Amino acid sequence: MKKIIKNGTIVTAADTYQAELLIEDGKITQIGSNLSAAGAEIVDAKGCLVFPGGIDPHTHLDMPFGGTVTKDDFETGTIAAAFGGTTTVIDFCLTNKGEPLKNAIQTWHEKANRKAAIDYSFHLMISEINDDVLNELPQVINEEGITSFKVFMAYKNVFQADDETLFRTFVTAKELGALVMVHAENGDVIDYLTKKALEEGNTDPIYHALTRPPELEGEATGRAARFAGLAGSQLYVVHVSCADAANRIAEARSKGYEVWGETCPQYLVLDQSYLEKPNFEGAKYVWSPPLREKWNQEALWHALRSGTLQTFGSDQCSFDFKGQKELGFGDFTKIPNGGPMIEDRLTILFSEGVKKGRISLNQFVDLTSTRAAKLFGLFPKKGTVAIGADADLVIFDPNAERVISAETHHMAVDYNAFEGMKVTGEPISVMVRGEFVVRDKQFVGKPGSGQYLKRAKYNTPITENETMSI
Ligand SMILES: [Zn+2]
Repeated sequence: MKKIIKNGTIVTAADTYQAELLIEDGKITQIGSNLSAAGAEIVDAKGCLVFPGGIDPHTHLDMPFGGTVTKDDFETGTIAAAFGGTTTVIDFCLTNKGEPLKNAIQTWHEKANRKAAIDYSFHLMISEINDDVLNELPQVINEEGITSFKVFMAYKNVFQADDETLFRTFVTAKELGALVMVHAENGDVIDYLTKKALEEGNTDPIYHALTRPPELEGEATGRAARFAGLAGSQLYVVHVSCADAANRIAEARSKGYEVWGETCPQYLVLDQSYLEKPNFEGAKYVWSPPLREKWNQEALWHALRSGTLQTFGSDQCSFDFKGQKELGFGDFTKIPNGGPMIEDRLTILFSEGVKKGRISLNQFVDLTSTRAAKLFGLFPKKGTVAIGADADLVIFDPNAERVISAETHHMAVDYNAFEGMKVTGEPISVMVRGEFVVRDKQFVGKPGSGQYLKRAKYNTPITENETMSI
């Protein structure tokens, strides 16, 4: 099915211009004016921006945590993502010590393959480095196309890896061509502070933030960056929440270390005071790293604007308030960590960033799509508007105004962290490989139609063969 998108303003990470797009067999085949093709459907994008579909490099769909499982799975999560203008998610595949990596990856394929309504890929969690893992990793990269590893420096006795494991992961990633992602918080000190808080009878949600101070994120970020530099390897710091951590990244980059950073919508518009909401509602805002004192927001905007942080993930990890967040009533350490962020990622960055003059429109596209495509081996198949690229496109009304609410969102979870927030800018229609998933704000896609994406090695130009879908 051919389509021509007319009357829109094309926006990429580099350019903003008026043009028409011809889409054939799921790809952009012509960019120009007065395009025509026999049998092509005309899509009118008058008054709208047309930019590459968002790539969310940080999601947790159908993920077990603390005796429960995230409310949104690959079906509801990817449908909500599509409504928000995201056409690819890269989800974290969790592993268990002693278990073959291929079993964990198989588990994640089973979670996703009949449910995802948009394209998807996986990062692989590394919890240990031993001969079995080292023997398996080349296959993970070459056959599964999983070219990014995730190491947790926090969640002691659950996910946390020790420094030797982290350092050896950097060494291994350099050899194999993978990007190492870290959750940077000092889990040992957090473990001590949380035990002490509980002993002193401090059980409310706010103690989640007070026992994970920004110094511990800054320290872990600096440690990971030094390890990466020492190993001559590459680091991507997920969910940077505070000035301290952003400063450690800036420092490392100034030394020439290959260190990248991501922040998320929640850290730009919410702050630590949300954890003090009465009636246990503060639990809705419990995730890690925690929300920070408000002054950090300006530092994060500066880091986005100046290029210290290059990507914008959601850290989608949703739990209902009723029945799930409530597990931590009377003990903040039992509140499942995470929030529902997948749907409002683009709109919040557009509304608060572009509309308020903090970042440019082209930076917006780079942050939400292009840079993630480049760092995670999907470019130029994904992440841009170019001839030969997949027609993953958002038709976006930059002037639409709405109020974010759980009443109207598409996630399965029972609250929205941005409830009541007025935003400007809204995806009207969204297509994946030339097919509408959302059209005129209605879901017209199909769960299971999303394709698994094998990704190229870190910093390696991608070829068509490497992105074969299964
Ligand atoms: Zn996460």
